[in-house]
Amino acid sequence: MNEKLSARRLAIVPTTHCSLNCKLCGDFLYGPVKRRHIPLEDVCGDIDACFDLFDEVVWLQFVGGEVFVYPDFAKLLNYATKYMNRFERLIIESNATIFPNEEEQKALLQYGDKLSIYISDYGELSKAKDQFVAFCEKHNIHLVLKKYNGEDQYFGGWIDNTNPHDLKEPGYVLEANARNCPQNRIKNMHVYDGKLHRCANSCFMLEMGLFPPKDRDFVLLRDNTLSREEKREIIADFYEYSRRSCRYCKQKYMDILPRYPAAEQM
Ligand code: SF4
Repeated sequence: MNEKLSARRLAIVPTTHCSLNCKLCGDFLYGPVKRRHIPLEDVCGDIDACFDLFDEVVWLQFVGGEVFVYPDFAKLLNYATKYMNRFERLIIESNATIFPNEEEQKALLQYGDKLSIYISDYGELSKAKDQFVAFCEKHNIHLVLKKYNGEDQYFGGWIDNTNPHDLKEPGYVLEANARNCPQNRIKNMHVYDGKLHRCANSCFMLEMGLFPPKDRDFVLLRDNTLSREEKREIIADFYEYSRRSCRYCKQKYMDILPRYPAAEQM
């Protein structure tokens, strides 16, 4: 494969532990997906593997669960500085329930003007929001506040993708819908526990054991049975064909699905 292999958004998930327990959690963390911390050395190894596979990473993202419940988050941020010249932005996604400790603040600040913090503002639940705002103002950090409380929620609120089941779309319908899926359009790859997927639903629907793993749906970052070139060819095809998860996933209808208030707790 001679073409440049690019990851527009590379989301690394160091933990599926979360400080919240949302009924409509898009990552199925209300029960079907087990919450766990991935050991630091494994997450660092996965990051190394990704930067070896990709010629270009535009956005490197850390997402959970909730990243600030990960006990080694400062160490992870420190580790990722080694790739500082290989990506344009570092995005930290948080629900603003926990304000970073001193070590984490210091680690974040190393990224200077490459750092963006994206807060999902769940109103009263996001009790550290004001601290985040003050921290970002003080250090001139790019902050994005996504309003997920009260009226006029971001994107109208959340969709209900719970209870995933085979939607039995004919093959060509599935392929067309999966190709038009907003997640497919934004090209947000997800890395969790040694597997690189094309989206979070491919990752977490497999995690919940909804179907057996399907060849070429993801790349095993810690397995060297396939060569680097073979892995790159699989990744180059990620957005060409539906994943097994697409059969079960309503996210591809996101543009027309009803919306619900975000972050209602169990
Ligand atoms: S339909 Fe679901 S599984 Fe398929 S690309 Fe979209 S979000 Fe991912």
